[in-house]
Amino acid sequence: MIERTLVLIKPDGVQRKVTGEIITRFEKVGVKIIGMKMMWIDNDFSKKHYKEHVEKPFYPGLEAMITEGPVVAMVLEGVHVIEIIRKIVGATEPHKAAPGTIRGDYAHVSAEYANTKNMSVKNLVHASGTKQEAEAEIELWFKPEELHSYKTVHDVHTL
Ligand code: AMP
Repeated sequence: MIERTLVLIKPDGVQRKVTGEIITRFEKVGVKIIGMKMMWIDNDFSKKHYKEHVEKPFYPGLEAMITEGPVVAMVLEGVHVIEIIRKIVGATEPHKAAPGTIRGDYAHVSAEYANTKNMSVKNLVHASGTKQEAEAEIELWFKPEELHSYKTVHDVHTL
């Protein structure tokens, strides 16, 4: 039941200076940050990360967005963490994301609007969708020695 997931604070989130606020939301629920770094990825790396979107019409805008500045990448560990983090992050399109979620609280645009501007939907955060996706993404973004095993208060009080 204890899983790992990859979360990225994308360039729009970093440039808006809400990195700390976003990380706080994850820390508050008790999941553990086991790896974290800042990376500025290039077009080749973007194609590896978004391999399932490369042929889609919105991919050029997505690649321009994810490579326009550094991202904060992290691996989070916890019980059902993939599902929990997707819930905290909210729906892909901010205009559909519920209030209280990161995307619902920090953005409001729709894919329809973004498409009129040939832009990617700026939704601040990426989070792995499935266990299989999480494993592949963690392997792409982190070396095994960049992931750490340690105890937090949640290991004592929650788990
Ligand atoms: P996902 O892997 O589902 O997170 O999708 C990758 C990213 O592409 C999303 O987080 C959005 O930033 C962007 N995106 C997804 N769907 C669209 C769309 N229809 N139009 C523009 N950008 C999109």
